[in-house]
Amino acid sequence: MFELEAELALRKQQGLYRQRRTIQSAQGRHTIINGQPMLSFCSNDYLGLANHPLIKQAFVQATEHYGVGSGSAHLVNGHSQLHHDCEQMLAEFTGRDRALLFSTGYMANLAVTSALVGRNDAIFQDRLNHASLIDAAKLSDAKFLRYQHNDLEQLARLLDDSRVQKPQARRLIMADAVFSMDGDTVPAQELAALARRSDSWLMLDDAHGFGVLGESGAGLCQQQQLSQQDVPVLMATLGKAVGVSGAFIAGSEALIETLIQSARSYIFTTATPPAIAAAVMQSIQLIQQESWRREKLLELIAYFKQRIGALDCELMPSDTAIQPLVIGDNHRALAISQQLFAGGLHVTAIRPPTVPQGTARLRITLSAAHEKKDIDQLVDALALLLVD
Ligand SMILES: *Cc1c(COP(=O)(O)O)cnc(C)c1O
Repeated sequence: MFELEAELALRKQQGLYRQRRTIQSAQGRHTIINGQPMLSFCSNDYLGLANHPLIKQAFVQATEHYGVGSGSAHLVNGHSQLHHDCEQMLAEFTGRDRALLFSTGYMANLAVTSALVGRNDAIFQDRLNHASLIDAAKLSDAKFLRYQHNDLEQLARLLDDSRVQKPQARRLIMADAVFSMDGDTVPAQELAALARRSDSWLMLDDAHGFGVLGESGAGLCQQQQLSQQDVPVLMATLGKAVGVSGAFIAGSEALIETLIQSARSYIFTTATPPAIAAAVMQSIQLIQQESWRREKLLELIAYFKQRIGALDCELMPSDTAIQPLVIGDNHRALAISQQLFAGGLHVTAIRPPTVPQGTARLRITLSAAHEKKDIDQLVDALALLLVD
């Protein structure tokens, strides 16, 4: 085990050591960490729903009837009426024929590649895609090709080459809808057009758009008016803006049946507690009804950008709740995050390999639960820390 110790020591030296912080409260604008009250700017609970009384009530009420554990996988006897109803609600909400629930977004992404592509096929991914999409491609037998961030010209060339070399291959394009560490969005309409033109399938991972984007919060596809034909495989998570846990894939009847028959990360795992599905349904109802949450979030994003724009710092071109501040050096990013923490502000430093070398950053996330004065407090603290 000496090797492991040496490797860990090296990690520390490089400013890459990761540490968990233990939280003693619910998610929200205010949290308690290590016994200290904190103002949080790092949760993906973008709408402030993770601790909502109605969602908690739905969860508890469901346990009265269904208990806690689901007991087995969906294909054995773990598929409850609540899971079923939740899937129907998600299909309707996203305008798809059907939806399928997964325990986590990570597993949903693994399901797509394991069920849809094989040895003779090819996967095309944006270089900045989430790690779970990258792992999904690595675990499949398909050829894995990556293109520069949002570079559709390069992608078009890769697709053309593939069509010439292997006309029969299935081609699956996979991309984050909102890039998780940058906050910018995919040029979805152009990408959908390219997928059609090149006879490829398009899968979008809307982990950070679902609940937040679109008129009623159904995500990037709703905002960009992209149908099931445009984006045949739509994935989104339920542990971020929805405030609960899990994920789903939505699409055609044939897609969902194929996943049920052959997606290993669907078949060989215990279903999530039915109460999770009840909580998700209550949350979706709030998301649909309470558009003020999305409106307030947009206002806060604009306010943050205006205030931070006055400082001398590098902000990424993001219009979403993810507002990363690029610091560059790993140690400096970590030091700033630690100084903020000491002042009661929780912002995480994101370092390689989560982001490319030399682009360590503070990943600031905003929530509808924030107030403008919270942003003032953060920007004032950053103004002092960024000068040296
Ligand atoms: C968080 C995230 C996932 C993983 O979802 P989990 O439910 O946390 O496993 C997948 N894709 C993207 C883009 C994410 O941000």
